[in-house]
Parts: sequence; structure tokens; C-alpha cells
Amino acid sequence: MDLFAALCQANGMTREERVYMASHRSHDVGFLMRRWHEVAREAGMRVDGLNATSQTAPLALSNLGKGSGGGVYLSAGIHGDEPAAVQGLLQWAEENIPFLKNHPVIIFPCLNPWGLTNNVREDEEGRDLNRCFDQRENELVAWVHHLIEGYRFRVAACLHEDFDAKGVYLYELARRGEHFGQSLLKKLESIIPRHRGRVDGRDLRNGVMRRTRGLKQVAQEIGGMPEAGYLFLNCARTALTFETPSEYSLYRRVRCHVRFLNGIADIVRRTTE
Ligand SMILES: [Zn+2]
Repeated sequence: MDLFAALCQANGMTREERVYMASHRSHDVGFLMRRWHEVAREAGMRVDGLNATSQTAPLALSNLGKGSGGGVYLSAGIHGDEPAAVQGLLQWAEENIPFLKNHPVIIFPCLNPWGLTNNVREDEEGRDLNRCFDQRENELVAWVHHLIEGYRFRVAACLHEDFDAKGVYLYELARRGEHFGQSLLKKLESIIPRHRGRVDGRDLRNGVMRRTRGLKQVAQEIGGMPEAGYLFLNCARTALTFETPSEYSLYRRVRCHVRFLNGIADIVRRTTE
């Protein structure tokens, strides 16, 4: 038995988890993009690239023409050092081709491929892309705005990870009277428990930080407009930012993102069909 296998067993991993941890390629952007092209082909989705000549530039998969209301916006990897979000979105998409065929969806599989390759939060120029989502002079932001222009989304979900968190949690931007956060976390807390305590100096309610107003003020306090804030203010009825704690095994973090996205799909089915 090699040292790796021994260490894994000491940590109580299942065989499936050991295989996953030994074989994942979570910072291999070329491999990631090839799998997304396959998802697009199977689901009949259109692919747009920020730079058509690059194999590793940000991609978007969409079929928003399928209906005007009830669209879904999904994104991951705006921070390059949060690989479970990127892997979870891919795994979920590969397992949910029929959903992608039958609902108006746009997916941004990895908004910061350079960051993912290099395992850093910011982009190549040191910018935190999740703090400039209202800045059209930013090439990536302008590209996203262009692709979603004129569409309304029932729900937007932005997938993240947090190095400081001790459990999963969620920022819920929703219209008054609409609550999704608690039921979404309930579906996955058996894999990783909810974070207890504060985040960014604010209290969570059972893992959910909820806001319906004052977003521009929040954006000023944190140093710029995040993706979910922009979407909620401009085109999404609900915008959720889901976070897994980086200290847990990648295998479990990925499974949480997959379950979270299954919950999003349930919301869409329930509210639009
Ligand atoms: Zn993040």
C-alpha cells in the first residue's frame, strides 16, 4: 500500500472518494473546456468564446432562445482558486443534459481560466472580477453583459468557495417573500454542515445571508459590484451565491455544488412549468 492510499484511509475516505482525489484534473483548463464542448454538443447549446482563437478563453453555453421567461444563469470560477465550484458545475451539467435541452439556460463554466490554471483568485492583471461586474470597460464583464442583454432570469446562481468558512453558506438576494436558501442548504448539509458564526462581519441565519435592498451600499463597502449583485439589480429575480469551505475534501465540496444545482433545477421546474 502506498503512502497516499494509507493517508486517505486514515482520513476515513470512501473508495470512490480516493479514486476521485487521485485522478481529478481540477486546474486543467484545456480538459475542462473539452468536456464543456461535449456538453454543448449533447444538449444542443450554442457556444460563445471571449476569444475565438484560444482554447482556454472563457466560454458561454446558452440556449436562451428557448423561452423569454424563466431563464437560468449559472456561473463558476470567477475566482481561480475555487476549483470545486468549477468541477461541480461541470459534473452537474454532464448529469443533466435533458434539463439543459428543455430550459432556457446560460452557463459560464469558468469566468477566470487564467486564475484556475494558476490557482489564484484574481485575473492576470490582478483584478478581482467579482468586484467590477458593473464596469463595462472590463473586457470580460462587457462580454457577459452583451450575452445576457435583453434576457430575464428566474434564478441566477454564482458558485464559489471560501478559505475561511467552516461550513457551507449562501448569500441570498431575493424579492420580498421569496425564500430559497434554507431549503437549498438542507439538501446538502449531510455532506458538509452549514457554517456557524459570522461572514464579512455579518450574522448568517442558519447559513443564509439574505438581502433584498441596499445592494449598492454593500458593493461600496466590499470594494466593488459582485456578479450576483449586478444580476439581481438588472436582470435576475433571485441571485444566489453559494460557498463551500476550502478546507473540506474536494470530493465533498464538488458533491455539495452538484446538489445545490439540483436544488436550483427543482426551483426552476416548480416555478416555470
Ligand atoms: Zn469566490
